[in-house]
Order: sequence, then structure tokens, then C-alpha cells
Amino acid sequence: MNDHKTGTSTVESVETILTHGGRHPEEQFGFVNTPVYRGSTVLFKTLADLDAQAQRYLYGRAGNPTTESVESVINELEGGYRTKLVPSGLAAITIALMACVKAGDDIMISDSAYEPGRKFADGYLERMGVSVRYYDPHIGAGLTALMQPNTKAVLAESPGSLTFEIQDIAVLAAAAHAGGARLIVDNSWATPLYHRPLALGADIVVHAATKMFVGHSDVMAGTISATQEAWPDVDRVRNLLGFFSSGDDAYLVARGLRTLAIRMKEHQARALDIAAWLEGQAEVEKVLHPALPSHPDHAIWKKNFTGSGSLFGFVLKPAHREAVAAFVDHMRIFGMGYSWGGYESLCLPVLMGKSRTVNPWPNDTNLFRVHIGLEGLDDLKADLAAALGRYSAAR
Ligand SMILES: *Cc1c(COP(=O)(O)O)cnc(C)c1O
Repeated sequence: MNDHKTGTSTVESVETILTHGGRHPEEQFGFVNTPVYRGSTVLFKTLADLDAQAQRYLYGRAGNPTTESVESVINELEGGYRTKLVPSGLAAITIALMACVKAGDDIMISDSAYEPGRKFADGYLERMGVSVRYYDPHIGAGLTALMQPNTKAVLAESPGSLTFEIQDIAVLAAAAHAGGARLIVDNSWATPLYHRPLALGADIVVHAATKMFVGHSDVMAGTISATQEAWPDVDRVRNLLGFFSSGDDAYLVARGLRTLAIRMKEHQARALDIAAWLEGQAEVEKVLHPALPSHPDHAIWKKNFTGSGSLFGFVLKPAHREAVAAFVDHMRIFGMGYSWGGYESLCLPVLMGKSRTVNPWPNDTNLFRVHIGLEGLDDLKADLAAALGRYSAAR
């Protein structure tokens, strides 16, 4: 947390925060990295200490120096009051939603939000007496008309999962606040390096740290950052639910963060290069990348973001499932699997299914999502070019 850091302040560049934040070599015999703390019990010296409950650590579940080393970096980058590491990105979403509601309340979720968060809202919050409604990710100021007196949280994600709509966070925050609700933003795609929702008016920011923060496809983690006003509710819910992140996992998140700035730069440049190249390919109907001038939300992206991520989508000419198999089954470099953010490139054919209810997705056989990794650009293009050739021949 904030109260135990050396040398970092908001005047430093993000690169310096990423490399120096949360490290205290003077407490670790001079070793550069905060080591892995494993622990449940924390000892008290005297009864007076036990009664006072004032020492820095009380019990393992509340955190340890390794988890705090991550939290202080993210907190500084997001400009939060506090940040907590949680076991997954989904846990960050569920904690954030639960921090805002009680039985009888209402929440609004962007139709473009990460699907497991929708499932939590529909399958769990509804059962606890919270009504769940979905809104068009492009609603903007139109959100005001949908607010009910009992609406307590609005969940946004910019860009949206799979379909990459950009949401105007400042406009949504104003509408949510006027109606007495908090705005929660999933900022996993851009990271705080390229988009800072709290500065735009959001109350809570969540991350799938599993993705870009970790960067190596080897840990599940999430973070949740909040303003001073929202923090007590977030912290209380996380505590009550018993969510805990291990020192081992935290160590790997911290290690990923040290190189986040240069990784993001490389991912951004490669993804943009390939997205622009795909736009010129015969089989491609459209590319869903907010940093391309052809993207319908490019202007909002330009206004609110200072960079773009590794992940984008593209729509091919309609075809049968066999053509999709021809595309992905013989790729040499792109792997097929969930998640993203690692050094390795991924290509996922998307089955939208029931995960869009406000704006149903028209065709489920020709949408693909790619994460552009750190391989050679020409190799990646050759892999995609061969896949497009197979798709064209099969359709
Ligand atoms: C993956 C993802 C999550 C969930 O993160 P996990 O760590 O896999 O639980 C949340 N939001 C977005 C945008 C994601 O891509």
C-alpha cells in the first residue's frame, strides 16, 4: 500500500514507477527484489501489541510484503487511493460489483463486458436480489435515461471484450454519478500506461493482471483500485469473502510489471502493424482495432487513450465452420487458447453465443480475436497469410 514506499511519487515517469515502485532493498539485505513471503501466522510480541492491532501485518490473508509490492505500483499508475491484489481478474470484477450493491439494488453492465462477469451478475447477483440490466456500449449520455433510483453500479469495459467498442468513461461517470451509482471500469486492455479511468471520473478500476501485468502466461491474478470514497466498501467485501493472493503469485506479477512499459510498446507496434496489414487482405471484411482510423470509435480512443494494446479482432468473409478450422488448425506460430497478454501470439475464433443481448452479434463463424506477441513480424504475417489462403480455399 501507499504508506510504505521509497522514492516514488507522481512526478516520476511510469517507466520509473514500474522499475522502482514497491521495492525496498534496504529491508532485504540489499537484494533488489522483494522476496516471496509465504505465511499465515504473523507473531505479536506482547499482549499490548495483540490488543492494539497496530502492527504492519496481522495475518497472512490481509497481505504481505510481496503482495504489497505489486499493489503500490498499480495504485500509483492508476492514481487510486488504494489497490489490492486478488486471485483473478474475474475476482476483481465480482468484488467490485458486490462492493456496490445490496438486495433490492440494480446494476447496469455494458453489453460488451467480459462474459464471465455477466454470468456472475446473472447467475449470482440476481439470486441475491439484485436486478441486472445490460446497456449498449455506445450509449454515452443516454445512460442517464436508463438509470433507476436503485441503480448503484455501472460496469464498463473499454474497449469491450471481443468486439472492441470504446466507451467514453467521462460521460458514463457523469451519468452514473448523477444517478447515485458508481462507475466500475475494466482497464485490462490498455493498462494504466495508456488509459487512466479514475482520472476520467471512474470510481473503481479492475484488471485481469493475468494478462499484460504478468505478461508470461504463467499466473492468474487480478487487481482492484478505487477512489477514497469507494475503497472502504471494496476492502470490506474482499476481506469478508476471504480472497487472498499468494506471495508466489505476487512475485511473478511484480516481475512482469518491471518490463510492462517496453512490452506494451512492442505489443502495440506489432498489433498495429498487423491490424493495418490485415485491412488490405482480400478475405478480411473488417478489422476491429480502436487505434485504426477506420474504427467507428477511433475519435473517443484518441481523446482518452495514449496508446493501444496487443489484442484486436477481425471479421472475415462469411464461411462454414470447416473454413474456420482450415484457418486455425494449421497455424505454425499463433496458438489457440483463452487468455492473452503473454509473449506468445494467440488466435481465437470467437463464438459470441449468448454473450450479447442488447446488440446480438450477427454471424458466429467469421469473427477472430488475436493477441500479437513478441515474435518476428514477418513470421506472424506469413502465418496469417497462409491461414487466409486456407480459409479462402475452404469457403
Ligand atoms: C481475462 C479477462 C478478465 C478475467 O481475468 P482472469 O484473470 O482470467 O479471471 C477480465 N477482463 C478482461 C477484459 C479479460 O480479458
